[in-house]
Amino acid sequence: MQRKLKQLLIASSLALSGLSSPASAQLTALVGGSVVNLESGAPLENAVVLVEGDRITAVGSRDDVSIPADATIIDASGKWIVPGLMNMHVHLGLKLPGAASVALQNESEAELALRMAENAKLSLLSGTTTIRAPGDRSLGIFAVDKAIRRGEIPGPRIHAAGVPLAPTGGHGTSHGEVGVDGPDDVTRKAREQLRAGATWLKLMISKGIASPAGSIAASDMTLEEMRAAVDIAHRAGFKVTAHSGSPEATLEALEAGVDCFEHGYYLNQEVFRKMKRAGAWYVPTIVVSQAGAMEFFRKIGSPQWYLDRAASVGKVHWTALQTAIDEGVNIAMGSDQFPFEPNEGTVASVREIELYVDAGMTPRQALRSATVETARMLGVAEEVGTISEGKYADLLLLDSDPVADISALRTIGLVMKGGTVVRNDWNL
Ligand SMILES: [Zn+2]
Repeated sequence: MQRKLKQLLIASSLALSGLSSPASAQLTALVGGSVVNLESGAPLENAVVLVEGDRITAVGSRDDVSIPADATIIDASGKWIVPGLMNMHVHLGLKLPGAASVALQNESEAELALRMAENAKLSLLSGTTTIRAPGDRSLGIFAVDKAIRRGEIPGPRIHAAGVPLAPTGGHGTSHGEVGVDGPDDVTRKAREQLRAGATWLKLMISKGIASPAGSIAASDMTLEEMRAAVDIAHRAGFKVTAHSGSPEATLEALEAGVDCFEHGYYLNQEVFRKMKRAGAWYVPTIVVSQAGAMEFFRKIGSPQWYLDRAASVGKVHWTALQTAIDEGVNIAMGSDQFPFEPNEGTVASVREIELYVDAGMTPRQALRSATVETARMLGVAEEVGTISEGKYADLLLLDSDPVADISALRTIGLVMKGGTVVRNDWNL
């Protein structure tokens, strides 16, 4: 077993014990670190971040914040403090690298939910404290979410869409499977997801890398079908996101009021301008089509046709991301891979963020795309996304300044979620 994974697994048992104890009035003070400034200007150096229970109760310089005598001190001197990462495109049901023999199609919902729970734990330990799960094969994701909320298992905060709404023959559907066809069918299936606990709906409006057949460019759902989903979600105060590689499908979906778009392999300037005008969101998942991803896909046993198809969209997907950045579209970080890569010692969330910098974002912008912006997209900007008084104490400690060099995110050594330290590589 690789050292990194071993560390994670040791830390996970700590996390479990931490979560099972009452967290109510516990006081923790992170002392002496630099709080990264996500707006502009210099970081807050020699800071005190005071955490009471699961919330941050004070952030300030050491001279301004008095540390209660009964607080547990975490010496953060020489470290950089950033909000926990938020990954907006995660499938917890994916199998771990090395577990290629698992026959996913024959798996029971219970087996799937157990693997989701394990992956949720690893996601949290990797520094990803909030995820959006934009589509899973079963409703098990809601069981995992509930267990995490109750403190029964460790994991990130989850915003889930449940089972995606795909037309017959659409992305993610298997041969012989009946999809949702027509607005009435969409309405019923959408309501089923909300009943199960969904706070998002996911539409498969075009095909994708993982579709063995059919053009990525085709628009697979009708305007009426998309409108039906938007209506149901918006009535409940939730958003709709769409798997979309196609400009045509995206333009139609914008007309229907869809709020967010995943991947966007072939999206162009015209589409991004319309997205910007509509205030829509783009979740690039750029890491899935770039060179480094191919080795990962091979490891988890992806078939050759998938590798070829992923490689073939790499260049155009990259151009789409650069265009979105240039046009100032709302971008929220999502990787569509494990937020962690235990065998690599790196984190897909981090690789995704690094690629945004390569594509033209400043490190600060890229960091915001995984914290401030994601919180805004989820409608939870009052709760998470910055190191601020009143918000959940979801934070990471790094060895260097990510605003100076984004690869500092590779040096995560402490992870706190809701005031509980779930990983502490440095024994601080
Ligand atoms: Zn996906």
